Amino acid sequence: MQIRSMITRYGCLVALALLLVAAGCAVAPYTGRSQLMLVSPQQELALGNQAAEQVLQKERVVRAGPQVEEVKAIGRRIATVTGRQDFDWQFFVVDDSETVNAFALPGGKVFVYTGLLQAARSRDEVAAVIAHEIGHVLARHGGERVSNVLAAQMGQQAAMAALGDMSPTATQAANVAFGLGAQYGYILPFSRKQEYEADYIGLITMAQAGYDPRAAVSFWQTMMQRGKAKPSEYLSTHPSDQNRIAELQRFMPEAMQYYYRAGGR
Ligand SMILES: [Zn+2]
Repeated sequence: MQIRSMITRYGCLVALALLLVAAGCAVAPYTGRSQLMLVSPQQELALGNQAAEQVLQKERVVRAGPQVEEVKAIGRRIATVTGRQDFDWQFFVVDDSETVNAFALPGGKVFVYTGLLQAARSRDEVAAVIAHEIGHVLARHGGERVSNVLAAQMGQQAAMAALGDMSPTATQAANVAFGLGAQYGYILPFSRKQEYEADYIGLITMAQAGYDPRAAVSFWQTMMQRGKAKPSEYLSTHPSDQNRIAELQRFMPEAMQYYYRAGGR
């Protein structure tokens, strides 16, 4: 009886897995949330690269210096503990001290503005921001967003066909999804669910890399204080509120275990 119920259970799991693949679904790492995913990782990387070209044309990237070294070192350290070398991790510093912002493009490109580096009060706070952006990449939120935009525009079958040959329609949808057509910077209108997911993944991965996860809370508290005086781009796409901080606190005991294991104290 027990064996039979096991077969039934696993049989169902296999069927469910097949169904998910057929329907264009994926499962987010770390949280296990199921997602609509019509793009392959390769397509996602290609769309991310296209978007990065636009960003690099428009923004002034700092090529060398201590800020670049720091952002790259932090980014690489966190990317390494994720064990996901299948992503094309690249970290950029954008020379714009007026803009408190950071964002990631699908496939692994992370951009941090000098304005955000100035607003962060410690290396751990910078790590919290970079880990959060890495969380968006790992959970393929860009691909999920493109999938949702395209599916809403043209239905799932047509969307998959458009993405198959990377037609202009697919590129356009990617621009919408990544906020490249937006008037103010790169507004990535991730859902709240995706934001919380990136927060959680960020908290765990920064701790595993040996950065103090409590800095994620102090960073958001600083942002809340700043937001009252001057709303920033980062705040418009990353609503910082008590709920967000409460969620981070909820996962702090788990994150601290990883931090201690990584040698933190
Ligand atoms: Zn975010």
